[in-house]
Parts: sequence; structure tokens; C-alpha cells
Amino acid sequence: MTVRRTSFLAAVIILLVGWSRSALAQPAADLDPRVMRLVESVSEERLSNILRKLQSFETRSSLSSTASTTRGVGAAREWILQEMRSYSPKLQVSFDSYLVAKQGRITRDVEMRNVMAMLPGRSPRRIYISGHYDTVARPGGQSRSNASGPAPDPDARTAPPADPNAPLDNLAPGVNDDGSGTALTIELARIFSQSGIDFDATLVFMCHVGEEQGLVGARLHAQKAVAEKIPIEAVLNNDIVGNDKGGNGVIDGATIRVYSEGPEDSPSRELARFVQRWGGRYVPSHKVRPMARPDRFGRGGDHSAYNQLGFTAVGFRESRENFVRQHDVRDTFEGISLSYLAQNARVNAAAAATLALAPPPPSVTNERGQPQITRAPSGYDASLKWTAAPGAAAYRIFWREAWGVDWQHELLVGNVTTLVLPNMQIDDYVFGVAAVDAAGHESFVTAYVTPPRTSTEIKTVPQKP
Ligand SMILES: [Zn+2]
Repeated sequence: MTVRRTSFLAAVIILLVGWSRSALAQPAADLDPRVMRLVESVSEERLSNILRKLQSFETRSSLSSTASTTRGVGAAREWILQEMRSYSPKLQVSFDSYLVAKQGRITRDVEMRNVMAMLPGRSPRRIYISGHYDTVARPGGQSRSNASGPAPDPDARTAPPADPNAPLDNLAPGVNDDGSGTALTIELARIFSQSGIDFDATLVFMCHVGEEQGLVGARLHAQKAVAEKIPIEAVLNNDIVGNDKGGNGVIDGATIRVYSEGPEDSPSRELARFVQRWGGRYVPSHKVRPMARPDRFGRGGDHSAYNQLGFTAVGFRESRENFVRQHDVRDTFEGISLSYLAQNARVNAAAAATLALAPPPPSVTNERGQPQITRAPSGYDASLKWTAAPGAAAYRIFWREAWGVDWQHELLVGNVTTLVLPNMQIDDYVFGVAAVDAAGHESFVTAYVTPPRTSTEIKTVPQKP
């Protein structure tokens, strides 16, 4: 009896592993033709027009003048608002405004306005696509920050202004940093709102302000989301994504980096794996390079403001940066590769559309936060349990050896919330679950992770000398 049962289980395992490998080899069946059309409708010409317009404001510094209708941050935010409003009556476009006190790199009390366009879905859970529209330029730019001295804060001011109350109106075109992420966000607001697709999640196209003063607009919005319990499920942040020629001469127009904070199976890491998986399927000509670190050395971006308040967020960064064209008057339209920026926009579109069509990711923990994974029933099996995700018609189980970064195996199961994988040692593999709807749209994975253990102090008895 025992022998027969064991051989039967072994056969099941071979079947499961064999099936999962063949499933990995045939991904095209899961693609949604509506998402394919959405991805194809990214327009280089429109990206070009947006970038030229953004450059025309000469500076979009959060500390620049707001009186002019053609120059400075006031003119720029008004144009972004009206441009997104023109795309569709379905888009709810507004300023997300804050009165910010003088502090840090903010030289005076100033009103800062994110520009946000919301495309309501059937559910309130939110997927963000974002960039920052503000700019900065300093003598020497980012290349001097990189080259001079040991590890300075590259975003810090070089000298205090003569009059702290005067607007900062020096030329700061910021076409790549971060006109590129802003143009990508605005263009995706257009194609999503005009797609006619009925998304489950609410999509938010967010142009942040104050990034160059310390992620100010993103921090304030994330704080508001915590206070108002706004369910932000994922943030795709794009900052410096439009140039394919490194300042050292190395050219790479075929890959994009995606940074995510750890630890290894954090939700942000799972979001990065999701971008690689679904971006790669819809845009196979562009390779996603996930980076297992929060951002580049000594540098930051708006996704970190969301991470720090507990939200799931990743940062897209071009693969080869040209530091001469960052935080510098030379960050102009000439430094942009439109075809490269368009590819990065397509990867964002594929990932965001799939996420917004899919059910939310399932929870794999109980009410005490413990992972619902055991060795039952034999003591040597992997027994997984998860909480049903609204709208799910099936679940996809992923696993990999515990010494690895990419999922190695996957198995689609029906509309169940438990699964036993016989004779799989849970200590040797990482397991995760994604929710899948009836049409095959998949959430990102929730992994079974051991919560960190706190150290217990051991009491000792004083010894006699
Ligand atoms: Zn930036």
C-alpha cells in the first residue's frame, strides 16, 4: 500500500513538473488581442510632440515662477492637465495640490501640484503609471556629481541661492529627466482612456512634482493614500527612460532596467518579475532587466516614496545613462531616442493593462500574518492554502529552488484555494500563487515567506568567581 502510494505520487510529480515546463514554453496562448492593440498604439510622433512641448517651458523646476502662461512650472502643469483632459471624458484629470513649507532643498514655502488622470475601473484598487514632470539644472549637472569626490548626495544643491525667496528660473529643460517618464505617462493616459477596454482596476496616470527636492510630490500623495486608505496595488515609476546612448559610448536600445526593493520575495520584487514576464510576452523585442536593489547607487526615485509607506512599486530606468545630459542644460530633445522611449512605454502598457484586467493578487497569510504553507498531509508534502481573490476563475502556482531568482515551474489549477504537491519539501523551494481570471489575465504573484523572527534574550544566572 505504502509502496504503491509512493510510486503514484512520484508519477504525479513527474507529470506536474513536465506540464509546468511545457507551459513555460508556450506563453503566446495567454495574450489578449485587446492588450496587443493597446501596446501597438503607442505613438513615437505623439511622444515627440509631448517632449518638444515640455522642453518649450524652458524650466519646470518646482521652485520656478508660476505667473507666465508659456514658461515655468505653472505653465507646464496647466498644459499637462489640459492635454490629458482632451483625451477622453472618461479620464478624471485634476491637480493633487499641497502647500509645502520651506525645508531641506525647498527654499521657500511653495504650492506643489501633482497632475493626475484617473481612469475609473470596476473596482477601487489602483494601478499607477508615473513619472515626474519637474526638472532641475545645476552647473556641471550629474556628470560633475558623479566624478567629484567620494559619494556625495548627487541630488543635493551645489550652492544656496542668493535670495531664497526668489523663484528658481534658470534654464532646466529636463527632457529626459524626467520629460521622458512624463511623456510616457501622458501617452499611456491617452491610449488607455481611448482603448474602450473595461478594466477591473482603476488606472492612475500620475505626473509627480517636487521629485528633485526629495520625492516631495510622491511622498505627499503616498501619505494621503495611507491616511485615506486608498488601495494602491502597484506603482510603475518611470524616471530617465528616453536615452539609449551611454555617456561612455555604449549603446543599448533593446533593454530596460526595473529596480525593486527587497527582500527577495517582497511584493515589489514580485511586481518586477511580473513586468519581466508580461512585458516580455507582449513586447518580445524589448528585454526587461530586473534589478534586485531599490535603485541605482546613491540615487533615488519616486517609487521609493511609495515603498517607504508600504506600497508595492518599481522603478524603470534606461539601461545606459548619459550623465552629461542629466540635471543639466544639455538635457534636451537631441538626447532622446523616440523608438527606445516608445518601447519602454509598450512594456509599461502591457504590464499595467494585464494587472488592471486581472484579479488582485491572492493573500497567502492568515489573520496573524503567518504563511499558510505546511508539510501536510504526509509530513513531506507541500500543502498550500490561500485566500480567494475577487474575480478569480483559477490560480497559477509558481515555484523555484530556494537558491534562485526566477520562477522555474508553474501550474494552473482551478478555482480552488488549497493545493497539495506531494513529496515536495517546502524547505527547498519558494512557492507563490497568482490569481487568474476566466480570460487568462494574471495578477502578480504572492509568495510564501517566513516572517522575520525577533531575537529572544536568554536570561543567565550570575556565576560565582
Ligand atoms: Zn528624475
